Amino acid sequence: MPNTPSPRADHDDNSLAADWRRNLVEAGPEAAQVLAALAETGAAEMAVHFYQVMMGDPRASRLLSHEQVRTRLQPAMQRWVNGLLRATPDDVEGLIAAQRVIGDVHARVGIPVDLVTRGTRVLKQRLFQSIATLAGHGQVAHAAVASLTASFDMALEGMTLAYSNARERSSRTDAAYRLFSLVQNVGTERERQRALLLDWENTLLYALASQCDTAGFQSLAGSEFGLWFTHKGVPSFGESAETRQICELIGEIDDALQQTLHDENDARVRATQLQDIRGRVSQVRSLLGMLFERIGELDAGCDTLTNLLNRRFLPTVLRREIELAAKSQSSFAVLLLDLDHFKTINDEHGHEVGDRALQHVATILGQFTRGSDYVFRYGGEEFVVVLVAVDEPQALVIANSLCRRVAESPVVLANGGGLDITTSIGVAVHDGHPDYERVMARADAAMYQAKKRGRNRVVLADGSLPEAPERIALQRS
Ligand code: GH3
Ligand code: MG
Ligand code: MG
Repeated sequence: MPNTPSPRADHDDNSLAADWRRNLVEAGPEAAQVLAALAETGAAEMAVHFYQVMMGDPRASRLLSHEQVRTRLQPAMQRWVNGLLRATPDDVEGLIAAQRVIGDVHARVGIPVDLVTRGTRVLKQRLFQSIATLAGHGQVAHAAVASLTASFDMALEGMTLAYSNARERSSRTDAAYRLFSLVQNVGTERERQRALLLDWENTLLYALASQCDTAGFQSLAGSEFGLWFTHKGVPSFGESAETRQICELIGEIDDALQQTLHDENDARVRATQLQDIRGRVSQVRSLLGMLFERIGELDAGCDTLTNLLNRRFLPTVLRREIELAAKSQSSFAVLLLDLDHFKTINDEHGHEVGDRALQHVATILGQFTRGSDYVFRYGGEEFVVVLVAVDEPQALVIANSLCRRVAESPVVLANGGGLDITTSIGVAVHDGHPDYERVMARADAAMYQAKKRGRNRVVLADGSLPEAPERIALQRS
């Protein structure tokens, strides 16, 4: 997903940067020298010590393998410590950007916040001891400790800011996904709820007009609409000013209803009360319309052309699959498909035929995967298939069969002719890494290899990753 920082995050980053620069200037050159010397002698040891402590926590050891720690995380931690110890005012912008990336990764992987704060505490303690050994307890040592403490705290602040923004974003998407699974078809649900609300209102009018027994009249909160709204609507739409307002209006309507039904009022007073109730019901209706509209616009679950899942739900699905894989000791696979020479198809046959070809491929992908798998439209002519509960040989069999099916099923043209299309597929089997960007990056690299080796083929990703995961995939909008 695009990782555009919010204006608030920018503002917070700016004030953090100003504080950080001031802190570094105030520390003075001698304290800076002590810290730089510490980086020289101690950064590698700090990183080893850090992971020794961390891997003692079952939550960390469940997320990380010793191999990952040794080959990737320890060196990264060493660079991080180095960066903080050697920081000059000119480095601050870059440092804050780096904390942002780390915070994003922590959020994707779901690293508990207390593990991160404990980690920095462990490091700080160790560094304080080293400063004492290196510079004693005089004024310079004191300035070095003060500066280091501030740098660590500010790094953590930058990280936490990115972390909480990312978590907020992903929980919004999770909620939208829940809604999508819950109501499946937003349009149908909207009509149903509108009709139920109207029914309730009509029954009320009828009951009052016919002067029949109104004692047992259903409150709006207890009506089918009211129950749906409280139990499914609010959790699905998410708490917002509109959902709160609807809840308040329902309460007010029911209070007013009590009065109208039970007070011995003359017809004129009753008519006014009824008008008041109907006014509020109409407010509920328009607020509800807004809520549904917003969801329809922003959270369309399906891509309109192909009817496949929208890529914005990919992180939700991958996070869950990674969790399930860890729990059940199983694996899953990601197939990234990119249609070959699609520009030429558009150029030679027109965009409409191109669109038809995309629908055609989407149908094949849906037909030849299991109901439990997920098929996404990932981009223009790119698709992602998540094969659940498969090992590497099974994933390859399915990927090869999809590749063959696409190649062997020409798109039928208006003149009755057939248009051949082929696709290149990168396959990555989940390797236990907790960050979903990683499995996506491996599938992307494999797909690129499939293109390079001549297209219309399947390439399996190996363990290596040519570039950092941030290069690709979900960051690309
Ligand atoms: P390659 O084999 O290297 O993938 O070649 P390619 O031509 O497919 O290369 P590229 O991925 O750069 O081009 C994708 C083209 O897909 C560009 C764009 O015109 C077309 N495209 C993207 N989205 C749509 C769409 O929704 N409908 C149609 N008809 N074409 C699309
Ligand atoms: Mg492409
Ligand atoms: Mg292409």
